[in-house]
Order: sequence, then C-alpha cells, then structure tokens
Amino acid sequence: MRIDLHTHTTASDGKLEPVELCQRAATRGVEYLSITDHDTCSAYRELDGSISLPVQLIPGIEFSSCWKSTGIHILGLNVKLQSAVLNRAINYQQTARVLRAEQIADRLEKYGIENSLPQVRQITANSYIGRPHFAQHLVNIGRVKNIKEAFRKFLGPGKPGDVKKNWAPMTQIIEWIREAGGTPVLAHPTKYGLSWTRLGTLLDAFSAAGGQGMEVISGQQQPDLTNRLGRLSVQKGMLASCGSDFHRPEDTWADVGRIPDLPAECTPVWKNWGYP
Ligand code: AMP
Ligand code: MN
Ligand code: MN
Ligand code: MN
Repeated sequence: MRIDLHTHTTASDGKLEPVELCQRAATRGVEYLSITDHDTCSAYRELDGSISLPVQLIPGIEFSSCWKSTGIHILGLNVKLQSAVLNRAINYQQTARVLRAEQIADRLEKYGIENSLPQVRQITANSYIGRPHFAQHLVNIGRVKNIKEAFRKFLGPGKPGDVKKNWAPMTQIIEWIREAGGTPVLAHPTKYGLSWTRLGTLLDAFSAAGGQGMEVISGQQQPDLTNRLGRLSVQKGMLASCGSDFHRPEDTWADVGRIPDLPAECTPVWKNWGYP
C-alpha cells in the first residue's frame, strides 16, 4: 500500500490547498495520506465538507518543540481531531508562534531589519506565521538573494531568528499526542545536526517520554541512510514512519508519495491502526 505520512498544505507553509494536495497524492498513487501541517489541523476542517476524497486520510500534525537546546519536530499521527487535549495543544502552540514572531522581529532589528512584523503579517495567508514568511520578507526587501540564504544567515539553527523557547517541550508534546489517541513520531531525525550518538540519546529520551516512532524515510534519501535509520529504529524499539515532507510541487525531491519502501526489518507505524 502506498502511504505518505508527512505533508503540508496552505494551512501552514505548503503551497497546495488541502483538496489539491489530496488530488495530487491520489494521482501519484498514494492511498493513505496524512496532512501534517505545522502546529495546526485546520486543513482537516477545510476538507470536512468534501463529499468524497480520492485518498484515505490519517489525521496528523507536525508539532514544533525542543529537546534541551535542539529545536525538533514531532509528528502526531492518527490523532483524534475532536480531542479537547489536541485542540488545547494547538492553541498553546499558536500563541507560542505569535510570541515567537514578535521575538524574531525584535532580534532582526539589531541587524538593521526594522519593523518587519507588519510586513511579515501581510505575507501570511492565514493564522500560520513562521520563519518562511520572515525569509520571504528578507528576500522582498533585498536583504538576501533567496530563501535559502535567509535561513543560512538569519533564521536557521543558531541564527538570530532561531527562537525555540516558546514551544512546549518534547515531553509535553508527546503527552498531548498520546492523550489525543495519536502516535508520537520524531520527524526527520537527521535534520537536527546531531551526531549519531547524540541522536541515539535523543531517541532514548523520546522513548522514555512515551514517544513511539521515528521517521526512517523523509523524502528522497540515499538507500544507505534508509538502512542505517531502519536499523536504528529496530535497535531503539521504535516504530518506523515514512513521509515525503511535501511542501510544493517544484521541490521534486520531496513530491507527495515519492518515498521508497521501509526496510523489511522495520515495524511500520501504521501496524496497529486497523488499516489493511
Ligand atoms: P517554522 O515552522 O516557522 O519554524 O518554520 C520551519 C519551516 O521552514 C520548515 O518546516 C521548512 O518548511 C522551512 N525551512 C526550514 N529551513 C529551511 C531552509 N534552510 N530553506 C528553506 N526552508 C526552510
Ligand atoms: Mn515547513
Ligand atoms: Mn519539520
Ligand atoms: Mn514537515
């Protein structure tokens, strides 16, 4: 079965509307799809009225969080959308996002980027305000050449716009996901700049806090890395997930459904969800 458990829509920083994403996924052979927007499930509300969707949806979310001083992303997969705990968690994170945007704007002032918040707000299409909008603003005012440079100089790990302190900590996010009936999964484990040893420590802490899975596949990746992550999931007793982290069709390396199979030794995260 073709399954993609990590995708974004216009409800966060993705380019396609929820319905468009579902259509694209189906066209590309995906049968089971999780829309995992950053700190919101609003795409599912938008899809609620749709009569028949061409894919089976698995409700999900990608929470921003932190572990010690590392910013991490935690997927909540197969969550109950009507869960009061989930909706409180989303509200908490939304408030954190707004506060963070103010702090990012403050920090950028020191680099001569003045009064950015009102302009950044104009770029945002909905309640999601994030670093991609700040990046776009920096491009718009000619401070950087492109989005990549904006992250490299101002917004990426360790840069002035990298504000993580507002997010609920890892243990809290895991607890919320479990209470919402979902499976907590560490997203893209190799994107945090951690050594293999340190990643092992993170996974141990993640498990100890009730985390259950890790992404063994995140978009297109070298078979060698897939095998290493597959072995790590087995070694740590974690379920294995796979997702494209799709944001936009132009990023062809992360198109929806463009993901290799999980290694045979892995236990798929969807094993006990009751799907075929
Ligand atoms: P935020 O949710 O506000 O923390 O923004 C994080 C999002 O910014 C990620 O999910 C990516 O979509 C995007 N992002 C992070 N790093 C980069 C980068 N180096 N270049 C382009 N986009 C990035
Ligand atoms: Mn994103
Ligand atoms: Mn992420
Ligand atoms: Mn993502």
